[in-house]
Amino acid sequence: MRKMVIKTILMDKNFLRRLKSILQHMRRRSIIAYALLLILFIFYWFSLPKKLFNDSCSTVIYASDNNLLGAMIANDGQWRFPEIEKVPPKFEKCICQFEDRHFYGHPGFNPVSLVRAMIVNIKRGKIVQGGSTITMQTIRLSRKNKNRTFYEKIVEIILSTRAEIRYSKNEILKLFASNAPFGSNVVGIDAAAWRYFGRNANQLSWAETATLAVLPNAPSLIFPGKNRELLLVKRNLLLERLYKSGTIDKSTLQLSKLEELPSKPFPLPQLAPHLLTRVYNSSERNKLIKTTIDIDLQQKVNEIIESHVQKLKSNEIFNAAALVADVETGNILAYVGNSASINKEDHQNDVDIIISPRSTGSILKPILYAALLDAGEILPYTLVPDIPVMLSGYSPKNYSKTYEGAVHANKALSRSLNIPAVYMLKDYGVDRFYGLLKRLGLTTLDYPADRYGLSLILGGAEGKLWDIAGVYAGFARTVNHFSQNSGLYNLSDIKPLNYISSNDTIYESENRNLKPSKKLKKNRPILLRKGIIDAAPIWLTFKALLEVNRPEDEAGWEWFLTSKKVAWKTGTSYGFRDGWAIGITSKYVVAVWTGNADGEGRPGLTGVDCAAPIMFDIFEKLPNAPWFNQPYDEMQRIPVCSMSGHRSTSLCTSVDTIWVQESGLKTTPCPYHKLIHLDKTGKFRVTSECESTSQMLHVPWFILPPVEEWYYKTKNPFYKTLPSFKPGCLNSQDTKQMDFIYPKENAKVFIPIDINNQKSRVIFEIAHRKPGIIVYWHLDGIYIGSTKDIHQLALDPPKGKHILELVDENGNVITRKFEVE
Ligand SMILES: [Zn+2]
Repeated sequence: MRKMVIKTILMDKNFLRRLKSILQHMRRRSIIAYALLLILFIFYWFSLPKKLFNDSCSTVIYASDNNLLGAMIANDGQWRFPEIEKVPPKFEKCICQFEDRHFYGHPGFNPVSLVRAMIVNIKRGKIVQGGSTITMQTIRLSRKNKNRTFYEKIVEIILSTRAEIRYSKNEILKLFASNAPFGSNVVGIDAAAWRYFGRNANQLSWAETATLAVLPNAPSLIFPGKNRELLLVKRNLLLERLYKSGTIDKSTLQLSKLEELPSKPFPLPQLAPHLLTRVYNSSERNKLIKTTIDIDLQQKVNEIIESHVQKLKSNEIFNAAALVADVETGNILAYVGNSASINKEDHQNDVDIIISPRSTGSILKPILYAALLDAGEILPYTLVPDIPVMLSGYSPKNYSKTYEGAVHANKALSRSLNIPAVYMLKDYGVDRFYGLLKRLGLTTLDYPADRYGLSLILGGAEGKLWDIAGVYAGFARTVNHFSQNSGLYNLSDIKPLNYISSNDTIYESENRNLKPSKKLKKNRPILLRKGIIDAAPIWLTFKALLEVNRPEDEAGWEWFLTSKKVAWKTGTSYGFRDGWAIGITSKYVVAVWTGNADGEGRPGLTGVDCAAPIMFDIFEKLPNAPWFNQPYDEMQRIPVCSMSGHRSTSLCTSVDTIWVQESGLKTTPCPYHKLIHLDKTGKFRVTSECESTSQMLHVPWFILPPVEEWYYKTKNPFYKTLPSFKPGCLNSQDTKQMDFIYPKENAKVFIPIDINNQKSRVIFEIAHRKPGIIVYWHLDGIYIGSTKDIHQLALDPPKGKHILELVDENGNVITRKFEVE
């Protein structure tokens, strides 16, 4: 840069000196003459437009290895790639040899060749030669190829000398190579190399480069037909000249001459069309962007998506998207924003799903689990309730529509149970979780937290595949960096994904003796004692996602057991509109979405059935990655109650010793194992009022809250309910708390038909002694709803025998058999 400036000044000085000497020799040094010259000079100085070329360019994306991923045609219908960074060395030799042998010596025009051209043209009686230098041709191109007149020629010469003052030779060559026509609508060496040879201009052979070098002068030669012979002659002529000038050797010349001309133009690749559109819609429009995409992987993922969509379309599922990211850098390695259209049918295949907000289904549950662990509110196996719950207006269900009373938090996560997730969010707090999601990088929480409420964890909020994959990558990075940062946290480990390749590594300097620059100092990471989520909770979360791998909503999960250790989570949104799958190893994140871009749900559209197989196919194409290192410094091995998952007490009958996160040491000890008092036989419970203490047995007993117990014992046959009190001992359970009003035992129920010939409903009703208590209703073992204060429910059971079973919050149960006629 500095060199260039000096050169320009020198040239300017020379110029001024020359001007001065001319002035000195003028006999009449009148002020008028000076003024006139000054005006002329000013006119000359400002004659060249500030920017020579203002044409719009194609938006172009390259893969990380500089291969072309795709390009968008410029606004004026030209394949004009953005200005090249460097002129390919072979092209430089070829173009100078062919067009302007004295390019590096002349001041913009070459008087000798101009005179020669004039003589030839006069002899022939027509314009055969132009005698133009590359500089003059560049000016001519920038002036949109005006008519070849004498006047225009003079203008070109003047502007060329001015351009030589402003630009270095190298810059002029760059401008020429970037804007020269190469036949048809191909402009510039880059576009030409991809169009005619399907390769980067730097990778072309001498013969190929020579072919391109003769084109700007006569672009139509590229078209098929007679022209081609002439093109071959010209190319070989140029090759000969290159040989004579010593640029290439004899064997290169001979081999080059044997090379064939390109047949028909290659269509430009479109390997990542949605990423190209994304770049086009960003501030990088009309530029050439080198992305972080791994072109081989991109092609493989494209193929995987296409083959799966072929299968999915039989169930009218037409769209799928996938993203692969490198954990360490957060760089995207593959980006398939949507599947290609099948048989030219339009299923909104141009929509980039990766950046479209979609209902998140269960995909946020691992974040909540990690957050609760991090906050020290649960241990990995802590029991969480799985009993009917009523959210404002609707009651969420597990996929299986059943309840288990209480389940271990890690199993609730790996089986993706909805009800325990709701209870967990209730404990953690909606506002708090909402804030956490925002800090982790979710950009689509457009409404205030209370608008989502507890449904936030069940897909009530929308998320982008891009953001969510970014969160998982950040989690993995946090664990990977834990020991590297000596147990401290770099908050910038949680960052959005990136697709633009950048060579500015701020942590590494090429010359290690150099003092770090100011920028380097500024960017030195600040390490903190606490991460957004610490490494141990994340590690435990990944472990939970690895261990069971058996989501509730899925058959045939065994198919997915691969040789690779992958932590994964699926999600299915309400109404079967979105099927998600995200998998993670210590090196890669793979995120997949399946569904219909227009939002239409399909039965069977689940994350497990549709998205997970794609995710595993992609993992098969990735190198193996070691499992995460356990962050031991942040964990302790402690005894926990194997029944409740809480820290064990002396009453817990069976104990496991497990690794827990350090913050978990403050969790509550097991509240479920309690000491109860039995009579000598062990069959009845007693109190000190009806039994002497010396006759009592004191036994630890695992006691769940009544409603949880009611569901729990159906799934866990080992569960022993509390023994009843010994006759004569105080027992509040003896007095009946609730009873049926309708129907009576073994009643025959008649369901009337209304005037519209529709079956109407019958009101079932019970009474309860305790006001404000909640009663859970079950018909034939299936939960159908809950009541409070007024215990009525309208039902229309089908014909036949039924059992109605009700359980209240205290675990009292009543049942009634009836028959519908
Ligand atoms: Zn216990």
